[in-house]
Amino acid sequence: MTSPLTKQITVDGPAASGKSTVARRLAEKLDAYYVNTGEMYRAITAVALTKGTRIDTDPAAVIELLDEIKLSFRPSPDGQEKQLILRINDVPVDSSLARSPAVTDKVSAIAKIPEVRQWLVPRQRESAALGLIVMEGRDIGTVIFPDAAHKFFISASPEERARRRLAQSDETGANADIASVTNELIERDRIDSTRAVAPLKAAPDAVTIDTTDLTIDQVIDKMIEIIRT
Ligand code: C5P
Repeated sequence: MTSPLTKQITVDGPAASGKSTVARRLAEKLDAYYVNTGEMYRAITAVALTKGTRIDTDPAAVIELLDEIKLSFRPSPDGQEKQLILRINDVPVDSSLARSPAVTDKVSAIAKIPEVRQWLVPRQRESAALGLIVMEGRDIGTVIFPDAAHKFFISASPEERARRRLAQSDETGANADIASVTNELIERDRIDSTRAVAPLKAAPDAVTIDTTDLTIDQVIDKMIEIIRT
């Protein structure tokens, strides 16, 4: 039997650091499952917004909503079994809604509610039963899989992250520019890294890769080299 220590690779880092792209690509190269935990926080935020919940002022209402939500990653039905699809109440999460500016604006307020995080812990850990997984987020190496064999923390300068985010325009508003996107990212990172429970930070044993001046392939090559040594 493979040791559980060899089964998880964690990829944490701030918003728009490029971690989704590299984590997904790394999983493909290693024939591993890929799990993006940010999607779970986004899915809960989308439900709360749809229901008109006052996210900033009424965390109790958000916590109550959890009783109505079933959330899990499932292999996709099209045979691409390693591509996990997040389902909410048995329906695939609408990714354009989950990545919309309205959800992006409120997701960190949802993610700092301790009960929301606690509720998600077993739902994130259950993916480990599938086999080798690459899981990305903010607290995967520190809280979800503190014993993972390989931990990465992916960073980049705020300007470079804003530039990358603008290039994926689906997550930014119509009037977004470099300055507004930089401010949005800095504010989200501030909330994520100063919250009381599971703040955004590198695990002490994580390898930090600053991707500001690196191509995706260079980042992947570095990660693979570290994993294989
Ligand atoms: O990765 P992404 O930017 O989609 O994540 C959206 C938000 O979800 C983050 O800004 C953070 O507030 C929250 N998050 C978190 N912990 C994780 C993953 C995401 O707090 N493991």
